[in-house]
Amino acid sequence: MTAVVKAIVLREWRRMALAQAQQYGVELAGVDWLLRELANLDRLQLHLAQPQAEIPLPCPWETIAERWQQHCQQQVPLQYLVGWTTWRKLRLKVAPGVLIPRPETELMVDLALQILQQEPELAAGHWVDLGAGSGAIAIAIALETASFTQVPIRVHGVDCSPAALMIAAENARSHGLSDASQTSSLTWHLGSWFEPFAPWYGQGKMSVMLSNPPYIPTVEVEHLAATVRDYEPALALDGGSDGLQALDHLIQMAPDYLCPGGVWLVETMAGQSEILKTKLAATGRYDRICSYPDLAGIDRFVLARIVNHR
Ligand code: GLN
Repeated sequence: MTAVVKAIVLREWRRMALAQAQQYGVELAGVDWLLRELANLDRLQLHLAQPQAEIPLPCPWETIAERWQQHCQQQVPLQYLVGWTTWRKLRLKVAPGVLIPRPETELMVDLALQILQQEPELAAGHWVDLGAGSGAIAIAIALETASFTQVPIRVHGVDCSPAALMIAAENARSHGLSDASQTSSLTWHLGSWFEPFAPWYGQGKMSVMLSNPPYIPTVEVEHLAATVRDYEPALALDGGSDGLQALDHLIQMAPDYLCPGGVWLVETMAGQSEILKTKLAATGRYDRICSYPDLAGIDRFVLARIVNHR
């Protein structure tokens, strides 16, 4: 039996929850996120409903109210409390141990798809998502490229956290991509960055590297919102003293694995793209180096191509 609640009760709850968000210093947007995810209700629908209209709910009303209280009082991310997040067209399981995929990271997939449309030959090589976490990027690439490439792109997700990899594999399965299936183009590897591909060293088998690595300088991690700092994995956030430890490693290693003309694409923190571009250029192994903004207009993605000497 589905639960029902009157629109006026939900509207009153929303008003109270917004005030509470302010009082506890959590994001106001969380209120509507929770209503959307757990009650299938957007703000406009709630606004337009007759006060006495009975709104059907997929879960008991108390569940929604309780999750909100826990979020405010203990600052647990709502996505961990609910157990999933919605990212691009995917519903991804998330739990402590994996970073909650952020909306801006969706743009990295758009960038990769644009490049593939311009250069379909990139589909021939292997694509890797390094530091895959919940598997968001790798899964989106595997699913969204399927419609415009003749053979499925061989996508690999890598993470050094077994807990993250288990969740990533579960997310792939729930979206119809199974590691065991003959037709699957997506495989998961436990390891650090390029490590699982050591046998491919120098062979240029990869055409695209994508990564959303940890990039926050260690001293700044403690100033993050409590929901992030106290619950999300430091492994996915802390980029060492200057935030660039993982990114430096990716700059250094990728030319030994990517093919000439191969794509190097990462997410960075605001303010890091200029230095990354300088570092990429200084190696002499990359060209067509550029950055792209997020929806707020801040440069957050850096793209480079492996120099093609021929
Ligand atoms: N964007 C994340 C945050 O704001 C950080 C993710 C990362 O370090 N890759 O917390």
